[in-house]
Amino acid sequence: MGLAQEATFYDHAPVLLPAEQQLLGKTLIVAPHQDDESLGCGGIIYLLKQMDIPVHVVFVTDGSKSHPNSKKYPFEKLVSLRENESVEALAILGVGKNDITFLRLQDGRLPTAEAPDFQDAVNAFKSVLNHFEPKTIFTPWQRDPHPDHRATWQIVNQAVQAAPYAIRKFEYFIWLWERAGSDDLPVAGEGKIWKVDIEIAQDYKKTAVEAYLSQTTSLIDDDPEGFTLSPEVLAHFDNRFEIFLER
Ligand SMILES: [Zn+2]
Repeated sequence: MGLAQEATFYDHAPVLLPAEQQLLGKTLIVAPHQDDESLGCGGIIYLLKQMDIPVHVVFVTDGSKSHPNSKKYPFEKLVSLRENESVEALAILGVGKNDITFLRLQDGRLPTAEAPDFQDAVNAFKSVLNHFEPKTIFTPWQRDPHPDHRATWQIVNQAVQAAPYAIRKFEYFIWLWERAGSDDLPVAGEGKIWKVDIEIAQDYKKTAVEAYLSQTTSLIDDDPEGFTLSPEVLAHFDNRFEIFLER
């Protein structure tokens, strides 16, 4: 996706000012993988924590598919490495270990609404929702071009619809910046686009992302199919503004 195309949907978006950020209240950040929360919401997480607003982060998958063939980091070692990295990243943003939940569903295989195990995933998420009772939720964008991100949206949406009270819902963009087809972009009427000025948080966000050594360096170097975030992808997130869509 070219920059010009990207720019059209958020360039004139209003800025969500600090007084309005404060109104978000208790906030639940939903991340399919260990790094999505820092990439998509690292700035707003930092800003909310600076305002003493409770933030809880839930990781939906176990993250095991980033390097599926590594001998040095077989399944359990990889899962615990990525979880430890997320604890470290979130500490930089001001979120403690007790405010993190790992659902450990299978990476790369999150069920969408049609799948037989969809309701199990919804129920797992609902237990976090009921426990934390957030006023606001951040989840990946409905059509973010990654199957786990889209499935996460569906799981969250189903659970939020069944919640006994209204929850504000914001969506963040990860793969949209790199891989979006024109159908993946938000269209008029789908929601309200906001920009958040994260200038004072930007260095913390960058450091948090860099805590994911397994995703940003060649730490795991024995899997030819291994995944790392390229400098080009990372550059999308080293930005003074975070962009969200509110429904
Ligand atoms: Zn992801």
